[in-house]
Amino acid sequence: MECALLLPLSNLDEIAILLDVDGTLLDIAPRPDEVRVPGKLRGILQSLWSQLDGALAFISGRPLADIDRIFAPLILPAVGGHGAELRPTIESKVIDHLAQPLDPALKKLLADIAKLGPGVLIEDKAYSIAIHYRLAPKLGGDVVRAVVAIAEKYGADLLQILPGKSVIEVKQRGFDKGTALRQLMGYKSFAGRRPIFVGDDTTDDAAFAVLPEFSGVGLSVGGIVPGASFNFETPHDVRAWLEQVSKQAEAR
Ligand SMILES: [Mg+2]
Repeated sequence: MECALLLPLSNLDEIAILLDVDGTLLDIAPRPDEVRVPGKLRGILQSLWSQLDGALAFISGRPLADIDRIFAPLILPAVGGHGAELRPTIESKVIDHLAQPLDPALKKLLADIAKLGPGVLIEDKAYSIAIHYRLAPKLGGDVVRAVVAIAEKYGADLLQILPGKSVIEVKQRGFDKGTALRQLMGYKSFAGRRPIFVGDDTTDDAAFAVLPEFSGVGLSVGGIVPGASFNFETPHDVRAWLEQVSKQAEAR
């Protein structure tokens, strides 16, 4: 891919790079705890973070603790829990009062959906719960119907259902990757820069939607989405692009 397509990258002083994790930066694994960080990616991200003077962040639905575990020993600025948690710089404490964790009683009801059959996996992300059916694609319809039924009973006006790729997730309303991106852009290392956000799934739509407020650029993975101006075919292409950006910056 030609970086000429991504003109704002000519000057790393003027941009911020914001990256969704699963399906964008990392290949999706059969089980969410099996994702792997390819060998040189940590080094590339570390270099880019430095070249961007700290204006590089993960914007993920995973809890921050999970992100840190996956990328350890690398720590980067990050938004976790779909915007429920924020760490604007690597030195800052995690701001986690942005949302309430999901009601344990509701989580229990949703976790019971796993009983639909083997291969239906529950991922408790504290501020949301994800029900994966990648390993049981035939049960997808049943999983979705069960989630919708529970959400309606519990109070659909309080909850947001996020359908994704072989996954459906439930979180509270009032925060999302868009509100978090807006908040992050207010911090010193990001303020005044043009955000380049890369995302691949429904949960990223909210982030794509706020980009115009910052003259930002949206890049999608695996298919053009509303608000995206360029599409990478796979996470591998995203990683290759990041490496290229970092190398170009180094060469200057
Ligand atoms: Mg994703």
